[in-house]
Amino acid sequence: MEYEVVIGLETHAELATVTKLFCGCSTKFGVEPNTQVCPVCLGMPGVLPVMNKKAFEYAMKAAIALNCKIDEFTNFDRKSYYYPDLPKNYQISQNYYNLGVDGYMDIGVNGTISRIRIHNVHLEEEAGKLIHPEEIGADYSLVDFNRAGVPLLEIVSYPDMRNVDEVESYMQTLRKILLYTGISDCKMQEGSLRFEASISLRKKGSDKLGDRVEIKNLNSMKSVLKAIEYEAKRQSEVLDRGEKVDRETRLWDELNERSARMRSKEEAQDYRYFPEPDLLPVLIDEKWLRAIKDTIPELPLARRQRFMETFALSEYDASLLTDEKILADFFEECVKVVNRPKAFCNWITNDLLREVKDRKLDIYNLKIKPKQLAALVEIIEKGTISSTIAKEVFSEMILTGKDPKTVVDEKKLAQISDEGLIEAVITRVISSNPDAIEDYKKGKKNALTFLVGQVMKETKGKANPKIVNEMLVKKVGA
Ligand SMILES: [Zn+2]
Repeated sequence: MEYEVVIGLETHAELATVTKLFCGCSTKFGVEPNTQVCPVCLGMPGVLPVMNKKAFEYAMKAAIALNCKIDEFTNFDRKSYYYPDLPKNYQISQNYYNLGVDGYMDIGVNGTISRIRIHNVHLEEEAGKLIHPEEIGADYSLVDFNRAGVPLLEIVSYPDMRNVDEVESYMQTLRKILLYTGISDCKMQEGSLRFEASISLRKKGSDKLGDRVEIKNLNSMKSVLKAIEYEAKRQSEVLDRGEKVDRETRLWDELNERSARMRSKEEAQDYRYFPEPDLLPVLIDEKWLRAIKDTIPELPLARRQRFMETFALSEYDASLLTDEKILADFFEECVKVVNRPKAFCNWITNDLLREVKDRKLDIYNLKIKPKQLAALVEIIEKGTISSTIAKEVFSEMILTGKDPKTVVDEKKLAQISDEGLIEAVITRVISSNPDAIEDYKKGKKNALTFLVGQVMKETKGKANPKIVNEMLVKKVGA
């Protein structure tokens, strides 16, 4: 039978605050285990949580950026469950009054925009981390509470996705929004951005939702996509056999590329949610909401559209530039100095990104500044250096942060436009390449290209190619 795959995603993003959600402990990643803890995040009796306003504002930003409705009243709830990484035996989360509800995010797949609805955006605290020793025979686990209490944003989509292309675009777009708004560093390898997928199948054309399965333990965007493909196949086989898909939570096994049942699906009532008595509700007034709204920058999709319209860039170029906010900012600074959008786009998306990759540079701490790249484009246009030499100058600039003029002077790279100097080289090249001259006179046009190349080689690429070309034609021509 033919089925339609119905996919929803739950996203967890650790917020980029300096301190935890309900205490003053640091959120720094990668330090000695259990060194960033206090009685509050360890859940000692008698302690009281105090909400981190910054974390709440970051969550507001996300809710606004995802077009959610934000009610004036929000509250925290206790979600009770037992697990060794949860010292209080409950997690402070939101259930009855989520910070944001009924939003949406537009995603682009192969040139078409689809709208994926967002069910809710809410704020909660992270759990600790269990460490399972790898040595053979170890019959214990360790727990690190440094992560317990780190602010965590949960974004729940509606099951609006139908294939892995949409899922991939959803994850990428959401990641970009979180990075653009600066509310999470989105480092999947450090666990600060995580996805869980829920998948169900239904007969094509049906509008009833099938029984869904949730998949956890997805460590990268690639595993999300692989797990969805695996699960869609598994469920279709179950249904084809005339059996029912069990509502359950499954764990993805990255090594063997398969999923296995973890537990039957829990329902909200299993968690015995009730309003957190130790925290006050948060009231959001118009003024506060507007102030937060004002801090949200232009988001990637809108910026891409504007780049296409304002700078006449192709969709491909505009996407490359707006993928990383830092690149888009760099580009706009350049264009402010010299209005050559296409040239800057090429420099940034080809040369700059290549150098960053080859030399493993930190894109957030580049030595080269936009006005220096603008100056480079200017001296190419003036004819001071050729575009070939410019590549060499650029390499030096990105390494040292020097101005292009300084590099040109230090390395004596300025283009030779002096006709006397060029003529001397041309004379030498002509006398040592009689065959090429013959060929050219017989009408072989590429012989001229060869001669120009020889002159460029002798001048180490510094002769002005336009002048070389003109002079050569005059000398050997007709
Ligand atoms: Zn603490």
